Amino acid sequence: MTMNLKIAIQKSGRLSEKSLELIQEAGVKLIQGKRKLISVASNFPVEILYLRDDDIPQYVQDGVADIGIVGENEVLEKNKHVKIAERLGFAKCRLSLAIPQDVDYPGSDYFNGKRIATSYAGILGRYLKENNIDAAIEEISGSVEIAPSIGLADAIFDIVSSGGTLVSNRLKEVEIVLNSEAVIIKKQDLEGEKQQILEELIFRIHAVQRSHANKYILLNAPNENIGKITALLPGMKSPTVMPLATEGWSSLHSVVNENEFWEVIGKLKEYGAEGILVIPIEKMIL
Ligand code: ATP
Ligand code: ZN
Repeated sequence: MTMNLKIAIQKSGRLSEKSLELIQEAGVKLIQGKRKLISVASNFPVEILYLRDDDIPQYVQDGVADIGIVGENEVLEKNKHVKIAERLGFAKCRLSLAIPQDVDYPGSDYFNGKRIATSYAGILGRYLKENNIDAAIEEISGSVEIAPSIGLADAIFDIVSSGGTLVSNRLKEVEIVLNSEAVIIKKQDLEGEKQQILEELIFRIHAVQRSHANKYILLNAPNENIGKITALLPGMKSPTVMPLATEGWSSLHSVVNENEFWEVIGKLKEYGAEGILVIPIEKMIL
């Protein structure tokens, strides 16, 4: 009997939906558990544990879960013995210091003798120590951004993504301390069968991520421009070129990266391409 790799993901919050999506797109079919604390998969040796994100590093360290999907900020804050196995590129945010908008900022010396409100006391404490800043940390668990206006602190250290929350609380971001994204963490000593299941999962995740970043493209082109178009659309190895029934024309199939997409389309039209079809790719294995 094979053993299951136990994967901890956030029960409900900003990471939940994307974490589940990632696992399901990797072809894992989940059977929902009755109490929704655990689900098992019908076609892949994994089970999912739904937890608070704050608890995930600890549970992975202790082996309650083998791996977990969590924000890097939470991993660094909790400072547990776990390894980052993969960066996932979603839930991007930063941990920054912010001060009231109307205060001049002379540089990080500003924070000497100040009180900083945060729910990330661990990361902030290390940052202050590394930069020889002598500030007091006011640890609070939520609504950090209101601390300066109610006189609880002179500054805050908190998650920023768009900066909208800061602006609406009349604060400005002055130091970025950490750039964070969702990551897969694993137990320090994960090995054998479970390590292999993790590797298979990461292999599948790469295939899905690649497929999202690329599109399949089909077009008709005059034969004299096939060379130029091939150079533009190198594809995975090289494009497939097939003759059309119409003399002097070919059909060309390839793969194009989403980021280059519109630029490529513009050039294709210049080279006389017609009937361009662009199709999403479900999985892409190199
Ligand atoms: P829980 O109830 O599980 O403890 P939480 O309230 O602590 O949830 P969320 O707000 O759901 O956590 O955020 C989870 C993670 O998502 C954060 O640790 C961070 O990595 C990331 N995150 C938080 N805020 C943002 C944001 N505004 N934009 C992008 N990512 C964010
Ligand atoms: Zn949390």
